[in-house]
Amino acid sequence: MGLRNIMNYHSDDILRKKSRTVKKIDDRILLLIEDMIETMRAANGAGLAAVQVGVLRRVVVIDTETEIIKLINPVIVEASGEQQELEGCLSIPDIYGKVNRPEKVIVQAMNENGESITLEGTELLARAFCHEIDHLDGVLFIDKVIPDSLINQNDMEDEKIHDEEILV
Ligand code: ZN
Repeated sequence: MGLRNIMNYHSDDILRKKSRTVKKIDDRILLLIEDMIETMRAANGAGLAAVQVGVLRRVVVIDTETEIIKLINPVIVEASGEQQELEGCLSIPDIYGKVNRPEKVIVQAMNENGESITLEGTELLARAFCHEIDHLDGVLFIDKVIPDSLINQNDMEDEKIHDEEILV
């Protein structure tokens, strides 16, 4: 299949729905994961949740630039510290804002082989984990954004904000 359409906040209500647990990792799920990776890369994103391509399954992919993390049924089991950094969302084009997130999270999930995995993320990766797992419950970053921090793409270029913001 390859590239899939990315759902847009303005037109796709599906982004507000809760994704279902994956019970069996079959060929459809494996194809979904491959397509999500391709779609994320094509959009220059750092992460993508299945609901963002219109599939209500608890599947997330994240590109750390050194590896691609594939998460099935991910759950945050530990969170500590806090950070407020800019986030953007592939489903909410051109708007960025700061969100209160934990500085460090530990996530449990399954990989594509059905094996249980535990991952730790700090800073950018912690934000990506939180943002994507929120998507699985129909939660968007604009629900949690620090109100004064919302900016559009043009403002961002003006301010020359560092390039560490995430587009997930
Ligand atoms: Zn997003």
